[in-house]
Amino acid sequence: MKEIKKILIANRGEIALRILRCCRELGIKTVAVYSTADREQKHVALADEAVCIGPPQAGRSYLNMAAIISAAEVTQADAIHPGYGFLSENADFAESVEKSGFIFIGPKPETIRLMGSKTNAKAEMIAAGVPCVPGSDGILPEDDDECLRIAANVGYPVLIKAVSGGGGRGMQVVRNESELLGKIRIARTEALNAFKDASVFMEKYLEVPRHIEFQVLSDGQGNAIHLGERDCSMQRRNQKVVEESPAPGITDEQRAEIGALCVAACVRMGYRGAGTFEFLYEDGRFYFIEMNTRIQVEHPVTEMVTGVDLIKEMIRIADGKPLKKKQANIKLRGHAIECRINAENARTFVPSPGEIKKYHAPGGPGIRLDSHCYAGYKVPPHYDSMIGKLIAYGSDRKSAIARMRQALAEMIIEGIQTNIPLQRRIMSDAVFKEGKHQIHYLEHMLEQWVNEE
Ligand code: ADP
Repeated sequence: MKEIKKILIANRGEIALRILRCCRELGIKTVAVYSTADREQKHVALADEAVCIGPPQAGRSYLNMAAIISAAEVTQADAIHPGYGFLSENADFAESVEKSGFIFIGPKPETIRLMGSKTNAKAEMIAAGVPCVPGSDGILPEDDDECLRIAANVGYPVLIKAVSGGGGRGMQVVRNESELLGKIRIARTEALNAFKDASVFMEKYLEVPRHIEFQVLSDGQGNAIHLGERDCSMQRRNQKVVEESPAPGITDEQRAEIGALCVAACVRMGYRGAGTFEFLYEDGRFYFIEMNTRIQVEHPVTEMVTGVDLIKEMIRIADGKPLKKKQANIKLRGHAIECRINAENARTFVPSPGEIKKYHAPGGPGIRLDSHCYAGYKVPPHYDSMIGKLIAYGSDRKSAIARMRQALAEMIIEGIQTNIPLQRRIMSDAVFKEGKHQIHYLEHMLEQWVNEE
């Protein structure tokens, strides 16, 4: 295998900058690709080379596989890092990258494909001994009576989910038998429209779970480790808003037990790269829901508590190097919290693109800001509204929250609206401070905020 000397970063925004910084640290040359809306991106200015790959619409730039691969050819890159979102979990892209002679910094295409189907992923996890949410045995059949029978077996309420789903879309909660067949039909139509695949499956609907996920690294050569868990229960419409590690109240024994199962699953499937096992957690039990075969937005909280640079490890693994770290080397120290900073109204969540007129970044002990923004930067309206991630580290959860509050109080972004007021509110919330929130808590908090006025 050739040594990676030049990486094409097939992404934009903070994650492109994060990958670029890591490459520079490793002495690896970088190629930025950008749409015409992103000429002023920080990583574009800092990269060794930059190639414009198309117009603002993601479909014609960041999702344009041919344009990205030809940029890699022209610049003679060795490898492509997909970041998150865009093409990061597209098995066809990973395959084209490899067929064109480049290294894909991520899992093998067949692994991405396997995990891209939630039912196949669950079957794989069941085989590996990972606990899953009880539900249908794979895809729901066309037969109505059969669906009714399966639901009665699982027990109401049930959740209908798209097999190829993502982004929390296309899910239907069914509270009783009379709604079942209608909701299955709605879910099938939504799934077909959104994911070009009408197949759906059924799970027991958990009423008040927490979202807890495990980070893994696996070299595809038989070595795998886990790096503990993250709690991502502060969500709005299935979108994460705040993440932290470790998860409040999870014991060392629970971490070791579930972590070991994730590691075993990685070894079983010959997993290569960084990955995340997502679980719902209710009444002291973990239930696997899906695996993400890429680096995640919230990876910094894991980096802060483990001291492991996950992007660096991804590159090493892609370079064919076996994992150096052993499970015994991974110790969680302290506590880290991440607040996603979005260009949007803090109350209505309406996106707020435009020029950042004034920008003051927070700092001090334990503060990390992953952002591509600067004064004068124009947030384009074409992409996700996330413009940065503020991460606070402390010796314990209380001190991480205190530092985060201080950092949020210091941070100034003017010219556009941001969700900083919401994040300040979350950091002062009594239920959050106790670590007692679950996935529906933020919606409840937001309702209260509206009622106060
Ligand atoms: P997606 O790939 O669309 O994000 P997931 O399977 O990860 O789909 O589920 C997204 C979110 O939906 C979860 O974080 C959780 O909030 C909710 N959810 C998923 N499955 C269940 C379930 N069985 N019971 C209750 N909530 C669920």
